[in-house]
Amino acid sequence: MIFLTYHQISLLDAADFYTVPVRFLQDHLTVLDRKTFTCGTINDLVAGRAKKTDYFVTFDDGTADHIEIVAPLLEKRAVKAIFFVPTAKLGQAGRLSREQVVELAKRGHEIGCHSHEHRRLDTMSESEIREQLRVSTEILGDLTGQKTRILAPPGGYTSPIVQKIAAELGMPLVRTMKWGINRSPVLNDLETIALNRKFPAAKLEKILDGRGLLPFKILYAAKQTAKALFPLRLYECVRNAMFRR
Ligand SMILES: [Zn+2]
Repeated sequence: MIFLTYHQISLLDAADFYTVPVRFLQDHLTVLDRKTFTCGTINDLVAGRAKKTDYFVTFDDGTADHIEIVAPLLEKRAVKAIFFVPTAKLGQAGRLSREQVVELAKRGHEIGCHSHEHRRLDTMSESEIREQLRVSTEILGDLTGQKTRILAPPGGYTSPIVQKIAAELGMPLVRTMKWGINRSPVLNDLETIALNRKFPAAKLEKILDGRGLLPFKILYAAKQTAKALFPLRLYECVRNAMFRR
């Protein structure tokens, strides 16, 4: 079962590493169709019934393009997404408004928890983690009228404490940023393919064929080490410089 993680989607090519051009998103979905993967449901996932060939498209950070570009594109293909929305940023410039979150939920998309303030959770105290998740799920619950069932910890930084508190707050599902295709799915430690602007459909196709995943796993491990060693701003500057054309 495969998770795809996107951030912003742009109509034009953008400089930011995690901003993916819309044509790539379209190509990725076409590859999934061709390989006979189908869009999975959260109900099946929670019940442990998700199939090997189910896919889940997720979009992090609650940016405005998610309702302006992404939702209409997915709906044309009858695909439902999971939008991970940091609730403290609702209504800020370039972000989704509260009304837009309501709208996305009404249109059948799942709204997931991405914490309240989008700060790293794994280094917080237990009470701080609980507060970040409680406030966020309460706001989302008020907006959508539904219980929030899935968490994506900001930056993918998770821990057994984060998983435990998520479960206590009704979120048995945790999508991490670990590279992988969930061969043996662990619902509170779900692996993903994190798409970026250098990720054409051919690369995804290879992964769906069960090839080419190892370099990404190694790169992920190296990145985690770099993030632990250097301040995040410096890490991001180096990353953007490396991937500049
Ligand atoms: Zn995020």
